[in-house]
Amino acid sequence: MNAPLASPPSVKTTCPYCGVGCGVKATPDGLGGALVEGDRDHPANLGRLCSKGAALGETIGLETRLLHPLLRGADGTLARASWEAALDRIATGLRQVIETHGPSSVAFYLSGQLLTEDYYAANKLAKGFIGTANVDTNSRLCMSSSVAGHKRGFGSDTVPGAYADLESADLMVLVGSNTAWCHPVLFRRMEAARKARGTRFVVIDPRRTETAAEADLHLPLAQGTDALLFSGLLVHLAGSAAFDAAYVAAHTTGFPEALASARAMTPDAAATARACGLAVEDVERFFALFAATERAVTCYSQGVNQSAVGTDKVNAILNCHLATGRIGREGMGPFSLTGQPNAMGGREVGGLANQLAAHMGFSGEEVDRVRRFWGAPNLATHEGLKAVDMFAAIGRGEIKALWVMGTNPAVSLPEADAVRTALGKLDLFVLSENVIANDTAACHPHVMLPAAAWGEKDGTVTNSERRISRQRPFLARPGEVKPDWWALAQVAGRLGFANAFRWRGPADIFREHAALSGFENAGTRDFDIGAFVDLADAAYEIFPPTQWPAPRGRPEGTGRLFAAGGYFTPDRKARFVSPRPAAAVAAEPPFPFVLNTGRIRDQWHTMTRTGLSPRLGSHIPAPFVAIHPEDAAPLGLQEGMLARVASAHGAAVLEVRLDAGQRRGTLFAPIHWSGATASHGRVGPLVHGVTDPISGQPDSKATPASIQPHAAP
Ligand code: SF4
Repeated sequence: MNAPLASPPSVKTTCPYCGVGCGVKATPDGLGGALVEGDRDHPANLGRLCSKGAALGETIGLETRLLHPLLRGADGTLARASWEAALDRIATGLRQVIETHGPSSVAFYLSGQLLTEDYYAANKLAKGFIGTANVDTNSRLCMSSSVAGHKRGFGSDTVPGAYADLESADLMVLVGSNTAWCHPVLFRRMEAARKARGTRFVVIDPRRTETAAEADLHLPLAQGTDALLFSGLLVHLAGSAAFDAAYVAAHTTGFPEALASARAMTPDAAATARACGLAVEDVERFFALFAATERAVTCYSQGVNQSAVGTDKVNAILNCHLATGRIGREGMGPFSLTGQPNAMGGREVGGLANQLAAHMGFSGEEVDRVRRFWGAPNLATHEGLKAVDMFAAIGRGEIKALWVMGTNPAVSLPEADAVRTALGKLDLFVLSENVIANDTAACHPHVMLPAAAWGEKDGTVTNSERRISRQRPFLARPGEVKPDWWALAQVAGRLGFANAFRWRGPADIFREHAALSGFENAGTRDFDIGAFVDLADAAYEIFPPTQWPAPRGRPEGTGRLFAAGGYFTPDRKARFVSPRPAAAVAAEPPFPFVLNTGRIRDQWHTMTRTGLSPRLGSHIPAPFVAIHPEDAAPLGLQEGMLARVASAHGAAVLEVRLDAGQRRGTLFAPIHWSGATASHGRVGPLVHGVTDPISGQPDSKATPASIQPHAAP
């Protein structure tokens, strides 16, 4: 049984699921569980919780937990070992691989579930001291197109607004986002705005989702055409009263070129409608609504990001807000809704292979700055491999050692069966996990380390509105469970780097992170939390939810940015970026359907935690595929029967759901089921490994696929 910490009786912490980052008040019940309530004082949720958050107390038992280190023996089986033996095995294995194959043959695959302090420690060890930039994260699958789009448009990875804008907007545009299911508390805040001020909703999504069903206008565009729709909108805005010539002249560059490019692709609403497969009157209505409504927020999520043209989609959206100057002011702006609880915190400390730390890249100046700050002569000097390329390199035998922390790539990565095969080729495979069994743990790790779980973890996370919040422990760590940062520091010590990893706890790491963010900064970088360089331990303990940047002298943080320009480009101006021309995704025999994958309301990722709650499991108990009835009929597919869905990469057997809200020629299947829950329901093996060439984000929304009735064996 999980023991409560002695005091205080209730602890304020942060939900470990989606990027909304809701505040939670947890009170241990003394029986291993906890009473969980929304924290009324947390600005993200103001006391609200969704079904997943409300069920957190049901998911913290020890039945499935990994409680001790495990080492693989000569007979191939995992057996309990001491921490000393496990850490020695990792250090010895890393040293051998580095000496034989070089530092780039080592990789780390991290997770948006990790705390910022854990992420920081992993990046410092890998990039700073081992000297490999092959450090990527499952956040690559979730928001890296937004990161790349922000950097192209703003010169920095910055979300300009705050959640409060969702309640003061008059027009809410939701693009590729089933907000009602995937960011439920934000959707409730949007609904509150609709009730209070009549906010209108436009939902842009090929599927008639639960969110689209609530919309004033639903645009079920053809898969992959979002950038064309916003290109058409830019043309319309340029000729309307909404065009803000003064803002464009003072704070941006590249508008004439972007407009010319947009006019060539989508000269008017009719051309836009044709390109996107929409009714022209619906496109005209959207354009008119957007032009006429100054307080407009455009939220976008995985339907935008998880695309071969995801970065272009993001910039097409940013272009429309730049052209109207609707950015960084109350009730207006583009807003990337992050999927994971700490996808943004990971970005802050260099969790992506193309970043160092504190949003710095690999320019000579930035490499030099980080090298001097860390005292790290081995610092990696070039970008590493992004997630899909990293696992391909493992499959080719180019990467020999991999440390996976807090994620389940054997289920969640595209072409997941090839990922399983690749994991079997490693000389050293280390897995830091909460649970003793999942699909990745079944891929024969050499070492498994028992990691602290939610309720035991101590550190910070950052949500979609740049708000840093504390995750605080309210349960004692069971068995021999340890924090991830501790295991990393122990290995660093064994590799001879102890001096750089002498942290007493997460507060030490947070202060170091803050100091690096403000190091030789002079206010020119977006990510700066220099105000917290000298934060006392007691102040870290009660650290209030705070939006960065928070440079020295501004510990209260910053709610909004860019209303008066001040972008993080060399000339402090934003960039209009022209999307590349991209037609709707086409699918042809033998794979005539476009398979879209996504989430359902009551499950999280691969269900290792939400799967423990019968209440959550009762919402949608089995893996399914949604298909339009008119596509299903000629194939002999009926509601409830089993179908075999296949792509060039794999197959799954899923229950058929007839859904008239599904666009013709498309399928939808949820991502959550794994070998541990319903082996036939894994869709990861089907998803193609196509990525956006700029962001490296997988195109998980548009895999060519086939479907037919399942012939029982
Ligand atoms: Fe947790 Fe997201 Fe639900 Fe909030 S909306 S309770 S962060 S899952």
